Amino acid sequence: APAPPPAWHHFSDPAEVEALRGNLLAWYDRCKRDLPWRALAVTEPDADRRGYAVWVSEIMLQQTQVATVIDYYNRWMQKWPTLQALAQASLEEVNELWAGLGYYSRGKRLQEAARKVVSELGGHMPRTAEALQKLLPGVGRYTAGAIASISYGQATGVVDGNVIRVLCRLRCIGADSSSPAVIDRLWDMANALVDRSRPGDFNQALMELGATVCVPKAPLCGECPVKQHCRAWCRKLFGKPAPVPDVEDCGVGDCPLCPPATEPWDSSLGVTNFPRKAAKKQPRAMRTATCVLQRRGCRGGPEYLIVQRPSSGLLAGLWEFPSLPLAQDLQEQKEREVLADHLQAWMGQPVAAKGLRFIGEVIHIFSHIHQTYVVYSLPLDGDVTLDPASPSRWVTEEEFHASAVSTAMKKVL
Ligand code: SF4
Repeated sequence: APAPPPAWHHFSDPAEVEALRGNLLAWYDRCKRDLPWRALAVTEPDADRRGYAVWVSEIMLQQTQVATVIDYYNRWMQKWPTLQALAQASLEEVNELWAGLGYYSRGKRLQEAARKVVSELGGHMPRTAEALQKLLPGVGRYTAGAIASISYGQATGVVDGNVIRVLCRLRCIGADSSSPAVIDRLWDMANALVDRSRPGDFNQALMELGATVCVPKAPLCGECPVKQHCRAWCRKLFGKPAPVPDVEDCGVGDCPLCPPATEPWDSSLGVTNFPRKAAKKQPRAMRTATCVLQRRGCRGGPEYLIVQRPSSGLLAGLWEFPSLPLAQDLQEQKEREVLADHLQAWMGQPVAAKGLRFIGEVIHIFSHIHQTYVVYSLPLDGDVTLDPASPSRWVTEEEFHASAVSTAMKKVL
């Protein structure tokens, strides 16, 4: 069996755990934000619908701010109020609603999983974290814990970015917080801490604390409901680790949960010494030529050609202006030529490279790609016969914005 963590880094006193739960829940009852999925998770009598509501919100909230998600969530639940309704939607409709929310495979996977619940599980959501994670594609340990605790009252913890920050500060965990060893410890801690009678509220309270009080850069420790349990806060106040009876010198030895000896506690950082993360990998740089082909529509206004991306890979199934990845360091003349050849394939007629007008560059950061779109435009006079075998269509500006297009393409337009 693995060695237990040094006492300094976990909660060993049951009375302290009880006090922490009570303080955190009392604060949550007073201060929680009014969010649409929270109301539904409490008031909805249909258990499957409760689970579905939390599931949708949790998937949307991955990598996305609460303020952005609210409107998407409301529109989604209005359009597909049940799993059954979502299972019948087309991927195109899902992409259209998801447009602008980013990480598009999330919407696609949510819909695929809804189909699975309807076709293979009799339309019923699994009720435990273990079953949710096992049976629903795209549902990982965190999402499963959130649905099971919030919708079904299972006393199981959750660990997301906010919880990592709060727990690392509460127990002065300064080893790399993305390492499997630390993540395992945090899950153990979350499972041990979760309140047995109000697990969903407790988990939401811990996440809410991380989102609104124990924030990354300037945490509001003075207002924090659990500051008396926070070892980072104590250490900031007193300048050194408070003595712990059995592990007095934790923090100076080779403790696996303390900051590495090469990067010790920095008193100018205070509580933000925690958490620590290994340096992030630099995103990959890519250049893509894209062309806004424009014609006069039947009502006199401009129309633009958009084409559909393949059904797998980055931005799967979304629509975009005809685009082509470029080799790095390609000369501008060569860029025009390869783009002109590419356009010819869509339009079925020759395109003169010199007719392409260079407009500028648009930079968009995807999670792991630093993408530069090199934007050209080409106004067309005559009619163009599009290849019916390739998914493409002409749209007005209004139709463009209502289509399943990425935020990057909106910037390009
Ligand atoms: Fe976070 Fe400060 Fe509260 Fe500690 S006292 S949990 S660092 S906000």
